[in-house]
Amino acid sequence: MLCEAYDVALLDLDGVVYVGPDAVPSAPAALEQAAARGMSLAFVTNNAARTPDTVAAHLSELGVPARPDQVVTSAQAAATLVSGMVAPGARVLVVGGEGLEVALRERGLVPVRSADDEPAAVVQGFSPDVGWRDLAEGALALAAGVPWIASNTDLTIPTPRGRAPGNGALVGVLRAATGREPVVAGKPELPLHAEALRRSGARLPLVVGDRLDTDIEGAVRASTPSLLVLTGVTTPRDLVAAPPGLRPSFVSADLTGLLQAHSAPERVGGSWRLGGWKATVDRDVLLVEGSGDPVDALRAACAAAWAEEAFTALRVEAPAGAGF
Ligand SMILES: [Mg+2]
Repeated sequence: MLCEAYDVALLDLDGVVYVGPDAVPSAPAALEQAAARGMSLAFVTNNAARTPDTVAAHLSELGVPARPDQVVTSAQAAATLVSGMVAPGARVLVVGGEGLEVALRERGLVPVRSADDEPAAVVQGFSPDVGWRDLAEGALALAAGVPWIASNTDLTIPTPRGRAPGNGALVGVLRAATGREPVVAGKPELPLHAEALRRSGARLPLVVGDRLDTDIEGAVRASTPSLLVLTGVTTPRDLVAAPPGLRPSFVSADLTGLLQAHSAPERVGGSWRLGGWKATVDRDVLLVEGSGDPVDALRAACAAAWAEEAFTALRVEAPAGAGF
């Protein structure tokens, strides 16, 4: 079982533990059982708006009991980065919300809101309250040449009504206005991962996420094993077409995958087989045949596709039960 093979799960939140306002149905019980079998849980989020206290309270409300010290945010990773660039006790301009302010104070830095305060750095993270005045102060402070740290560069954030501009879009405003480029703390960059390792004390961590271009890419860059869950934004077709830098070590339908042993597909002749499924690449077609657990079909399909040079051009042909 993954929860026995790895000591800490570094869990993404949205699309993994919850989707929008609701917990993923199987998540609370799966995490409880993984913890009971000795796996420590750390909740690692690119969202810099909320404090660890707020995130922990929200998780607990959803039936996933969490302490603030189990939550690691991109705001904390950004504050750690800033503290390595400025003098102790320095003023730092915040373009963002409470999560960033609390994280900066935790590092002994002084959050300010005006370029007239002569900040030694600018730190930018998502908050729904960021407006033109905040962005203008950021641009004015950056004109002095001080370091610029962004919590993350996710272009959009999910909302119940659809996709809205995320921190990456707001970073784009300052990039356009200043011609400068920020240092980024969050996934897929490595500072947030390093912050999570430091705070959790993990020796054999497993990254768990739903996005290939943040969670999984960050894990690959850090040479850390990873589990992709299919409760978020990634579809089976996305996974089959993933280039080498975005491929997880394991895939499961949801967090119950932590409680499973994962068998690797077996190569038999020109096909890959697993649990009643057979996947074969024939010219530009990835043919999936058989029956059984659809995640096994996906595992066999990935093995077959990823063994090919032209994996991105493959057309998938699979029966309805394969889940594609
Ligand atoms: Mg996610």
